[in-house]
Amino acid sequence: MTAPGTTPAPAAPPAPAAGPAPALALLPAPAAGWEVAADVVVVGSGVAGLTVALRCAAAGQRTVIVTKARLTDGSTRWAQGGIAAALGEGDTPEQHRADTHTAGAGLCDDAAVTTLVTEGPGAVRRLIAEGARFDTTDDGAIALTREGGHHRRRIAHAGGDATGAEISRALLDAVRAAGIETIENALALDLLKDAEGRAAGVTLHVMGEGRHDGVGAVRAPAVVLATGGMGQIFSATTNPPVSTGDGVAIALRAGAEVSDLEFVQFHPTVLYLGPGAEGQQPLISEAVRGEGAHLVDADGVRFMTGQHELGELAPRDIVAKGIMRRMRERGTDHMYLDGRHFGAAMWEHRFPTILAACRAHGIDPVTGLIPVAPAAHYASGGVRTDLHGRTTVPGLYACGETACTGVHGANRLASNSLLEGLVFAERIAAHIASAPRTAATAPAAPGRRGPPRPYGCCPPRPGPPSSAS
Ligand SMILES: Cc1cc2nc3c(=O)[nH]c(=O)nc-3n(C[C@H](O)[C@H](O)[C@H](O)COP(=O)(O)OP(=O)(O)OC[C@H]3O[C@@H](n4cnc5c(N)ncnc54)[C@H](O)[C@@H]3O)c2cc1C
Repeated sequence: MTAPGTTPAPAAPPAPAAGPAPALALLPAPAAGWEVAADVVVVGSGVAGLTVALRCAAAGQRTVIVTKARLTDGSTRWAQGGIAAALGEGDTPEQHRADTHTAGAGLCDDAAVTTLVTEGPGAVRRLIAEGARFDTTDDGAIALTREGGHHRRRIAHAGGDATGAEISRALLDAVRAAGIETIENALALDLLKDAEGRAAGVTLHVMGEGRHDGVGAVRAPAVVLATGGMGQIFSATTNPPVSTGDGVAIALRAGAEVSDLEFVQFHPTVLYLGPGAEGQQPLISEAVRGEGAHLVDADGVRFMTGQHELGELAPRDIVAKGIMRRMRERGTDHMYLDGRHFGAAMWEHRFPTILAACRAHGIDPVTGLIPVAPAAHYASGGVRTDLHGRTTVPGLYACGETACTGVHGANRLASNSLLEGLVFAERIAAHIASAPRTAATAPAAPGRRGPPRPYGCCPPRPGPPSSAS
């Protein structure tokens, strides 16, 4: 899906039209009854929004965070497996780059990927300096695990399988320590623009406790959309209730371009809770397979063997399709994950969150198979940005899962999303700090990535970039 005015007809797809997309009608809402002025307003309090806010505040910008539920709500705190970065001995950003391109099915933007993997290790170290506590080995090094599509152990994790909760805790503590103003229960409605069409703030509807109530506005020359994903538009998803694609909708109504929305990642191993299960479903992290669990059918056959050189640790789209194929062959709606050989101690130490979620549903991974099926997990596309997070509307930035930086191509590499939130948040803050406060600089239109391609049609999966080792 592309922005209005650029959507090609399925029968004879033309190249996307150049120029700004027309804005859609704004949401009907009463006039703002209250106003707050700031240099930067950040919409969303996940890893992306909190990091942008922290870096902007550190640069002396008056920063306000608005978030539609509680500060802790969002996908970030649910992240399990970890955050990918070339931190281990022998690993390099170049190898991480190659794995990212392969998982993205040849549709990643190389400049964005190179930015992610080269700036990633530093961004993770700054997160640690900010107070995030990652799991370590006996000698004090960061413990690294593997996930699908990675040829190396490169995933840093916290609390075993509670990485997002720890990142959220650390960033929120830092936000509080920095005294950044936050407004909870504040649903961002629409972008405000000035007479020249530049971003000038957001309108909000606040419901609940706090200093503000009803429809209001935060006026600021820099607006950062960090509203997360849109998994809730599917019947079964790993995403929490707040993940409803609001940032993409706000951007579209403001006339910003969006890109690659058709690339929704389905996570292969979501706990199967029966045919009627709807809404947020418990995730069984890929790290469980990374540590040696196997995908099997009801007869115990490891059906991914021989389908890809990485077998059960192939990129997510390949594993999800492998599961769907086997389900169809067997006339069933789920497969199984077998991690019984881990033993109780490893389950309790390494995957306490997943163990508890399974047991809460009457499944014990220590003694039995875990029923799994694919479910909607991650929006690889979103509001189109350049390498500074700028959208096609001057002064409007997008960051994290709501953005489409080009990093993920058609399929996100596991654990690249927390990293993208960190890396591009820092770049956005640096760009805002370098721009005049009263008039955020107009973006050069983000470069179109690669040649125009027909709607919904991916080129054949290429091998890793030639410079990969
Ligand atoms: C179960 C699960 C496990 C995952 N595991 C991993 C992992 O191991 N590694 C990894 O890299 N990624 C993982 N991901 C993906 C990753 O967690 C997310 O992509 C990432 O956290 C998104 O961060 P974000 O800041 O962009 O958005 P979020 O963390 O989703 O935050 C979005 C924020 O925007 C707010 N918001 C939304 N709409 C509005 C609105 N209209 N007005 C105001 N506020 C609004 C929300 O309330 C929320 O505060 C996982 C995701 C899930 C669901």
